[in-house]
This record gives sequence, C-alpha cells and structure tokens, in this order.
Amino acid sequence: MSTIQRPYGTFDILPEEVGTWQYIESVVRDTAKRYGFGEIRFPTFEATELFSRGVGDTSDIVQKEMYTFNDRDKRTLTLRPEGTACVVRSIIENGLVFGAMPLKLFYIANFFRHEKAQKGRSREFWQFGCEIFGSSGAEADATAILLAKAVFDKLGIKGVALHLNSIGCPECRPAYREKLVAYLNENIASLCPTCVERMKTNPLRVLDCKNESCRAVSERAPKSAEHLCGECERHFSALRGLLDDNGADYIVDTSIVRGLDYYTRTVFEFIDPTIGAQSTICGGGRYSGLVSELGGPETDAVGFGMGITRLIAALENSGVQVPKNAVPDIYIAPLGEKAKIKAFSLAQKLRGLGVYAETDLCGRSLKAQMKYADKIGAKHNLVIGDNELETGQSSLKSMSGGGTVLVGLDADEVLRAVKE
Ligand SMILES: [Zn+2]
Ligand SMILES: [Zn+2]
Repeated sequence: MSTIQRPYGTFDILPEEVGTWQYIESVVRDTAKRYGFGEIRFPTFEATELFSRGVGDTSDIVQKEMYTFNDRDKRTLTLRPEGTACVVRSIIENGLVFGAMPLKLFYIANFFRHEKAQKGRSREFWQFGCEIFGSSGAEADATAILLAKAVFDKLGIKGVALHLNSIGCPECRPAYREKLVAYLNENIASLCPTCVERMKTNPLRVLDCKNESCRAVSERAPKSAEHLCGECERHFSALRGLLDDNGADYIVDTSIVRGLDYYTRTVFEFIDPTIGAQSTICGGGRYSGLVSELGGPETDAVGFGMGITRLIAALENSGVQVPKNAVPDIYIAPLGEKAKIKAFSLAQKLRGLGVYAETDLCGRSLKAQMKYADKIGAKHNLVIGDNELETGQSSLKSMSGGGTVLVGLDADEVLRAVKE
C-alpha cells in the first residue's frame, strides 16, 4: 500500500526542531508582555465575507489564494489567510472596541493561503502579529515598530533593516493618486499586464511590483511621502523623531505601499537581505479605516505581522545558538519482572517531583537499555535487579563519566542525588 504524504505546501515540525519554535514563541510572548500586549486567539476558520470585506475584494489573497469551502450547513467559510481581520472581528463582536483604549493585542497563529510553488512560501504558515487600537498618535506606530525591533534584538538577529514610508490619508491621497495614475498612463507601455490591471483597481500596488521594467517606472514615479497633507507630514516627522530618539535606524523607502484604502499614513517592513528573495520578515502599518469597514466604530489602528519561518531562517543566518531540547535527568534500567514494576513506579514518582525520568517500555536487555539511555542523552542511570530490590539500594551512575553514588530506591533520595 502506498503511504500518505502531507499536503503540498505544508510541513511538519519534528521534536528536534520544535525547540527553536518554542524558544522564539517564548521570546515573543515575554517581549509583547513587557510592551503591555495581551494575547488573543481566534478561530481557524471564519465567515468568508470577513476576508472579502476585511482584506479587500481586489487583493490577490481574496481573488486567488483563499481556502474557501462550504460546510455541511452550506455556509461559506474560509481558513484564515491573515490575522488582522480576525482580531478586528473579535474586538467588535466581544465589545473590546468599546472598552479601555488603547487596546494592545498580539497573536501567534497559523494561516492558510494557496500560494504558487516557490522557495520560502508555504500554504500553511505561522505569524506573530500585534495590533494597537485607539491611538492616532505616532507613539503607537513607534511602539509597534520598537516591539518588532525588540524581538529581533532579543533573538540576536543582526542585519535586519527597517524600511519606512507614509502613504497619506483620505485627505491627501486622492490628489496623489491622480498624479500617480497620470504618470503611469504616460508610461503604460513599460508596465506588465498585471500592473496595467492594477492601475484601474489599485494604482499604489504598481509601486511594489517586482517586475524589472515596472520597477524602473516606479523609481521615477511621484512619491506619496512628498505629497502629504500637513497632518500626515507632522505624523510622519513625529514618528521619525521617536525612532531616532530610541535607537531605531530606518530607511525611508517609497516603494513600500499598501493597496487598500483603509491603510493610512505609516507603512513599514523589516527586511533581512541574508534570506534571499522572501526577505521581508515583518510588514505592518496603520489601518485606521478597517474597524469601521467591518461594522465597528471609527477606531485608529496600527500593527504588524512577522513570519516565523523567516524569523528562523534569519536566526540561522545570524548564527544564533538556540537552547537545546531537555535531556532526561535519569534512565532507570530494570532487570526482571519485579524490578520492572519498581522502576516504573519510581520513574512515575520522580516525574511528579519535577525530574525528567525515563525507564524501559520495550522489555529490552540491560545492554540494549544502556545503548538507548546513551542515545537519548540521559544524564544518569540507575540499574535495578533482584539484588538491588533486596537491599533497597542501587548505584546512581553519571553517564558523562562522573562518579557513582549509592542511593536508596526512594524517590526523594534519588531526586537529591540527580539534582546534585
Ligand atoms: Zn494626509
Ligand atoms: Zn508590474
């Protein structure tokens, strides 16, 4: 019979790798906590309409990449392709949006997109994200950016560059957009077919097209950051001031844009040039129109999403040593049926006392058990045979070439000996 394989674009996280994931998650949780963010968890699937409204009908995600299905009640549901719309739905539905502001939330979750096959992309992927609601001030944008930076710093990831832009607001964007469309029209012959389409639906998106000839057009295009209204200009300069004061270097990068109308002012990305084509580890910005778009009150919001697999790639490229998986404190090797019962209950008691204890589950010979204990890296071993059962004592041996101590076959006594 043929074996069953995991679906294309998914991956397993095996015990030998999971330590890295747990380490990153613990750094993220600790850091987010210090910045006053509370964790939120939301369903794996949501009503499809949440994403068609909350991510934008014309976006690639909604048009080409969503896992949408009808359930047995004929409801149309979608596996979450991103987190922000889910968080916004939840805070409206649960009334948090009417509570104390600012509201600061973070999540670590898996998301699903039917991406085209390419390196660094998978169809189930993990993100750490944060959102700050209820503050229009540049301090909120700076807090989100500095939180992301604190995670990189804490993990020891070097060489990540912060790229920053402002894309204006509903006041100043229409005039800029008009200017941009006029310019793109003059250069329409140099644009790729997708960008010719985007010009009608989403002209700002042309600016982040990776096509070479489109990039040449973009480079000479009018810049949003040079067409800001007074309020947007003040906001952008206040944000840059806060970043300067707090040790966050940045590059003003006019190619960083977001195509959706509810994005306002700040957009940013953290880019790691060492991880190749998929070099954006973190992308974020201000999206003050989304809460009302999804039926809530007008609410300011800013946040980001950070890809965990890219974070791991960056960690490896920075040569960071991740704490290793724990190894057993003790392997208890029984010889004979009676000893097996004693070893099993001794291991059970030691685990209750916080010791990582292993014993034989396979009825192996002593030699085979020692080989296994060595393989799993046990720090000590304790052999129990008829003789030891009679005297109530055995020798606790250090597996790393240390000494031997005689211990009673009693959990408290063994605990003291292995912890010494
Ligand atoms: Zn403006
Ligand atoms: Zn293009």
